Amino acid sequence: MTAKVIDGVAVAASIRRELKSRVGALLGKGLTPGLAVIVVGSDPASAVYVRNKIRACAEVGIQSFRHDFPADAKPSAVLELIEQLNERKDVHGILVQLPLPPQFAISEILQTISADKDVDGFHLYNVGGLIVGNTVFPPCTPYGVLKLLEHENVALEGKNVVVVGASNIVGKPMALMLMQRDATVCICHAKTRDLAQFTILADILVVAAGKPNLIVPQMVKTGAVVIDVGINRLANGKLVGDVDFAGVREKASLITPVPGGVGPMTVTMLMHNTVASAERMSAAGR
Ligand code: NAP
Repeated sequence: MTAKVIDGVAVAASIRRELKSRVGALLGKGLTPGLAVIVVGSDPASAVYVRNKIRACAEVGIQSFRHDFPADAKPSAVLELIEQLNERKDVHGILVQLPLPPQFAISEILQTISADKDVDGFHLYNVGGLIVGNTVFPPCTPYGVLKLLEHENVALEGKNVVVVGASNIVGKPMALMLMQRDATVCICHAKTRDLAQFTILADILVVAAGKPNLIVPQMVKTGAVVIDVGINRLANGKLVGDVDFAGVREKASLITPVPGGVGPMTVTMLMHNTVASAERMSAAGR
């Protein structure tokens, strides 16, 4: 069996086209969706992510407001800016690019962002919403994975799903979102003993560990759907996921590539959350 490769770039492009027309409708009502992006320091990977987000904003018609701070910035200065952005009517989404320098308490920063503008979905209000299944802003990466599965008509009800990785931004919200769709979910992490005994049972395997070649063909059930969230830069400069793509492709039914799979969806769902926020505020007359 050779898996069909899921084209995340194409799926993302079709969602962005739809978002552009929703932005057009908002513009018709005199409202331009706005996203504020706060960057502290000059982490090279963050710089690439931020550039992609700003570019995506321009593509769908969202106004972006970028705020840069030096790496030694005082947390109070960033908190003060967030408070101001919370009040602004032209800002519908606020994100603080992570990671932050060590003087920052990340939770304090994330909890200061208004839950109504928390387009990354990291505020406790939105995290709590995941438990009961009515999150206002679903976190972008797992939301993007769900959209890819939906696009490929992968049924979730009753399926065995194994999520490898239990971080707050990918693994845990992914598991909750899949459980909400009636999948049977197992979460594995770095202390899981004998990872393969779990992964081999997966009808759908979602991998977000940040370890190249963690998943090899003998760990994958024949015909499984394999979603590789990992992004790893090898010493030779090559970008790879967590899955041995060439090997696992011969066993799976569907697989995402890296790059070109989940990555483009993450930025696209950020755009989606920002447009949805602007629509909500417009409907509420704010
Ligand atoms: P993270 O915070 O470092 O979490 C990694 C998770 O993987 C942890 O739960 C860790 O377990 C688990 N893990 C590590 N090694 C493992 C192993 N050998 N076996 C099983 N589990 C293992 O990372 P993250 O932010 O979730 O990101 C994960 C990967 O996804 C990274 O490569 C990141 O670059 C990528 N990513 C991609 C996108 C995208 O848009 N495509 C978005 C976000 C992240 P413990 O909890 O026990 O430590």
